[in-house]
Formats: sequence, structure tokens, C-alpha cells
Amino acid sequence: MANCPKCEVPVFAVDIEAVTLSAENGLTWRGLSYGCQQCKALLSVSIDPTALGEDIAASVVEALRKR
Ligand SMILES: [Zn+2]
Repeated sequence: MANCPKCEVPVFAVDIEAVTLSAENGLTWRGLSYGCQQCKALLSVSIDPTALGEDIAASVVEALRKR
């Protein structure tokens, strides 16, 4: 079992929250943060896989409409 690096409690579940991932070139993506439920320490951040799928589908539809 992995332990939280801050409070050292075993991590069985995490809190997730929506965050915006911003790049220096101005691009943004919808992401998720993963936090320790005990002490709220930030454990990780990743791109939101569900939102990424929606964004790809939307951009494909948009590209096909322009044809
Ligand atoms: Zn913790």
C-alpha cells in the first residue's frame, strides 16, 4: 500500500478535482488533481481522460464539417 508523502497515512482513495492545465504557449487542457483525503496534500495531476475524449470527438466533428 502506498502512503501519502506528507502525512504518511496509507492511501486507499483520493479526492479528485477539476483543474486547468496551462502551457506556456497558451494552450490549455482540462485536467484532474488527486489529493490525499486525510491531509489534502496534492498527490498528482493528470489530463482528464473523459474530457480529452470529448475534446477529440468535438475537433473531429468540427474538421469534418469544414469539408
Ligand atoms: Zn496525506
